[in-house]
Amino acid sequence: MSESSNVNNGPKSEIYEALTSIRLIDPHSHINPHSPASSTLADLLGYHYYTELAHSSGMPKSRIEDPSIGPKELVERLVGGLQPLENTAQYSWLIEICRTFFGFEEDRLHLNNWEALYDRSEQIMASAQWSETVLDQSNVQAVFLTNDFDDALEGFDTDTYIPCLRTDDLVFHLAKPEVRGRLATCTGIELDGSLESLRSSLKQRFEHFVSRGARACAISIPPSFAPTPVPDGRASTALNAVLQKGLAADASHRDALSRRVFWTLAELCDEFGLPFDLMIGVNRQVYPEGVFQGQDLYDSRVSLIQYRELFNSFPNVKFPISVLASVTNQELVSYAWIFPNVIANGHWWYSNTPSFISRDAAARLEAIPQTKQIGYYSDAYKLEFIWPKFDMYRQVLSGVLSDQFVGQRGWSVERAVELGRRVLRDNVEEIFPRPERAAAPLAGEAESDEAQSPSIPGALGVATAVAGVTEIVESFDTPETSVPETLDTDSPAAGPSSDDDLSLDIDALPGDEEVQELGVDDVELIDDSAPEGTSAEDLANLVEEDSLDVGNLLEDEEPAPEITQLRGESSFSPDDESLQLESDPTTGEFTLPVDGSDSNNDEEEFITINDASDLTADNVEELLEDSDESKAAEAEVEEFDLDFLDEDDEGKEAT
Ligand SMILES: [Zn+2]
Repeated sequence: MSESSNVNNGPKSEIYEALTSIRLIDPHSHINPHSPASSTLADLLGYHYYTELAHSSGMPKSRIEDPSIGPKELVERLVGGLQPLENTAQYSWLIEICRTFFGFEEDRLHLNNWEALYDRSEQIMASAQWSETVLDQSNVQAVFLTNDFDDALEGFDTDTYIPCLRTDDLVFHLAKPEVRGRLATCTGIELDGSLESLRSSLKQRFEHFVSRGARACAISIPPSFAPTPVPDGRASTALNAVLQKGLAADASHRDALSRRVFWTLAELCDEFGLPFDLMIGVNRQVYPEGVFQGQDLYDSRVSLIQYRELFNSFPNVKFPISVLASVTNQELVSYAWIFPNVIANGHWWYSNTPSFISRDAAARLEAIPQTKQIGYYSDAYKLEFIWPKFDMYRQVLSGVLSDQFVGQRGWSVERAVELGRRVLRDNVEEIFPRPERAAAPLAGEAESDEAQSPSIPGALGVATAVAGVTEIVESFDTPETSVPETLDTDSPAAGPSSDDDLSLDIDALPGDEEVQELGVDDVELIDDSAPEGTSAEDLANLVEEDSLDVGNLLEDEEPAPEITQLRGESSFSPDDESLQLESDPTTGEFTLPVDGSDSNNDEEEFITINDASDLTADNVEELLEDSDESKAAEAEVEEFDLDFLDEDDEGKEAT
């Protein structure tokens, strides 16, 4: 097929020929695996690029989307409107398809030649093997799909048509009753207002997809969206508001729920080892009167800075990023240059024409590690488009490799081809590995409903378990949770028995490796299913007759008696000053503050830390982190205070 490309001899031609021989895996498309190829020219000309261009050059939408017209009439109408489009790259794809697959020998399609082509192509496409023929002629081995979350993923070969979990509906449309209905139907899990039901539903979808060979999770995102974590309390409020009011729920609740769902998906990508394809920057319905799929546009105000928390929070999740327009490419190049988990992905939509591809691809090739760029994907709806679109990319790529690498840097053609192969094919396989090629699943995953376990590299699983432990702390929204017990900072891994999403994150029986990684001696320190010491009798038994001898906290000093003797006081009460000693900035000497505040201050401080009634979900974590430190600091202050009194009194005696 290369003869149609008219590439001149020279390094570019050599590189192009070599790239053409590489069998492709197309890492993103909208192919329907049950009807992957076209059956008439209407399937090709109905592609939104033609309908929107025909419309933008004057054809009324009603002539294109008239439901009463058949495929042949639609083609006749569109062909009648093609002349203004003849200069576009999209038009060349169409001609390329007709020449490559249907023996068309002209370079324009018009009202005098379309019908013969229509009839001949219809016969060719009627072949039972048509889709295999197209794949073969296009030198394509496999194609990634875009599957709705409730796709059964049955009835097709998932080695050729690779499932990909598309999550737009889950993140942005959960307020729609029909979307929630679909989710409940496919998972068997009803959203009951608990975050656990939400997470379980999403996780069930991951299990379903991964068990059927999914190699990516994907979403397209509007420029206004900034993914950030949403605390459990806020997420719960948002979920309940959306469940009660649906689309009428307040926009702030819908947004909070979107962010929560998105974040949970990222956690699941981490857990299941799936890359998360982000297609960033689509403003939907900018031109609502446009033809189907011809209404959306990019927004130059989009910035990847909105994703910084996501990229930082999930270092083990690969984020292949597509930007809608070339204006965002430099930012993408920079992010992929700095973040190990950011990967530049293809040339999407409005940036998918030769001049933008050329500029963007060159910028990526000269600045991003070669392992972190996926050269191209077709985004095709019908198999026939994979060939001309990839061919457009191959031609641009061979030009960039020839000019920049062979011409300017003196690379050999072979070395340039190697780089081309890497971005065209090898990186697709490495960035989206087959599930079975990944490491063994975590212990406990085997208990999942799905027969085939998801692939989870051990390190990722451990990271998730750690994240789960952190989350335990956040989940104490509910008053019935036994706060005092969990304040025992010596057993950070002791989990609550009830709580939101957590039980799902922590295996019932962690493997030795996980336990080691967690740095916790024993994750089963507390069996809180059997409450103890809570009855009056139990408590009475715990009370010892003599007051508890805490020993000599200061090791080599005897605190209380010495103090009272030195000061000549009959009793000792810790005072405010003891906690507020500050060194004089000029002399370095410790001085007593002059303002006389409550003398029992430090006692109160002590009580505050231990008073469970003061705990809120927000400060529990902080206290857990700080309490050991606080106690240590307190001991230090007391110790220091005593030293000071010694010195001070000695000084007084001396004067
Ligand atoms: Zn797409």
